[in-house]
Amino acid sequence: MELVHDLRRYARSRPLIACAQCGERIFMPEWSECLDGGRVRHVWRCDACDYAFETTVHFAVEAA
Ligand SMILES: [Zn+2]
Repeated sequence: MELVHDLRRYARSRPLIACAQCGERIFMPEWSECLDGGRVRHVWRCDACDYAFETTVHFAVEAA
């Protein structure tokens, strides 16, 4: 999914994602949680349609 790809690209600067249901941009996750293995889970809620979903971002060090 391109949406997930874009999220990972922007994740280093700031969270930015579009609502998976209506496309409204969401600038701040409602909830963020650090997981094991350098992962962070963001829970998002759309102000426009109240749709909630979550994403997991991997912050593991990658060789460039
Ligand atoms: Zn929405």
